[in-house]
Amino acid sequence: MAASSSSSRKRVVLLGATGSIGENTLRVIAAHPDKLELVGIAARNNWEKLAVLARQFRVPQVAIFDEACFQAAKSSGAFPPGTRIVGGLAGLIELAQLPEADTVLVAVVGTIGLQPALAAIAAGKTLALASKEILVLAGKFIMAAARERGVKLLPVDSEHNAVFQCIEGHPSAGIARITLTASGGAFRDWPVERLAHVTPADAVKHPNWSMGPKITVDSATLANKGLELIEAQWLFGLRAEQCHAVLHPQSIVHCLVSFTDGAMLAQLCPPSMTFPLQHALLHPLRAPGVEAPLDLSQLLSLEFRPVDEGRFPMLRLAKQTMVAGGVAPAVYNAANEIAVSAFLEGRVPFLAIPQIVDKTLQAVANFEPTELAAVLEADARARRTARTFLR
Ligand code: MG
Repeated sequence: MAASSSSSRKRVVLLGATGSIGENTLRVIAAHPDKLELVGIAARNNWEKLAVLARQFRVPQVAIFDEACFQAAKSSGAFPPGTRIVGGLAGLIELAQLPEADTVLVAVVGTIGLQPALAAIAAGKTLALASKEILVLAGKFIMAAARERGVKLLPVDSEHNAVFQCIEGHPSAGIARITLTASGGAFRDWPVERLAHVTPADAVKHPNWSMGPKITVDSATLANKGLELIEAQWLFGLRAEQCHAVLHPQSIVHCLVSFTDGAMLAQLCPPSMTFPLQHALLHPLRAPGVEAPLDLSQLLSLEFRPVDEGRFPMLRLAKQTMVAGGVAPAVYNAANEIAVSAFLEGRVPFLAIPQIVDKTLQAVANFEPTELAAVLEADARARRTARTFLR
């Protein structure tokens, strides 16, 4: 790391520094010491790794969500002298509002990133969003707050980042539809009969991306794409019928944006998160990436196939929740989390995942939330309801 401090550097707070998005973010930051500076890092519980990163990147402020881990970190002596260590949700919120920060990247798993994301917006920070749950649960509140405060919201998920790149500079009235690509996951080419016998070990092998077990299962059921369509609807202010998905086994094209005049723009890059992360962190600047770009001197074939919603009911259910609005997308997300963890524990078969989600959506009454607390209550109710459907 270059130690020289230049005022032109963008100062970044990274919430979720120890996960796979965090690791890729650190690769981008390490590659651009003249453009990016890390001023705060946070994690749920892995304080040992935070201590290593605090040293390596000379990060002055650290937050640890889990109380016991926070206490252990404070008394460990593992952090460089002078490091400020804060704990709990309040600690994450404090980091999200650091006066010296320009950009806050939220990459913590689950709903713990919600309040810090809103805090970053309130403090006028540019918000780079990697956590899906934030927009699926609170899209209405996040987008309203960002509009009101006039802050830049940069999507980090590869497909949404790709849409952002394609539509930037285009009036929204000219956008006819967006199409997110889906690899189709681990069982794309399996006959439907075999899906009944999928094991957790089968489901966590993803052909193109290296990710955690939950999201890898979500990409096999296409729930991941369903959640991404919900996210896209909020991010880009689209109607449900404008958001589509297509199977694209190579994961090279990340989105296709169709304009009203019939033109279609696509974004292509290798399937690695360093590309969208660098775009979001340096925006609007372009600079050499940390990985090799696509090489068109090598054979490159790109295929697209329509999604069979009979084979991927989770996509159909997601679209239903987008039309229904209200808390339905939050209920979908909560029920899916319960069903996927039960599948990973070997308690329910793979094909039970969409059934549990469908039953939960039918059982939990939908309504239009007027405050975030109501969405969180619906989320908790959906989790309780989904658990009753685990047999
Ligand atoms: Mg994605």
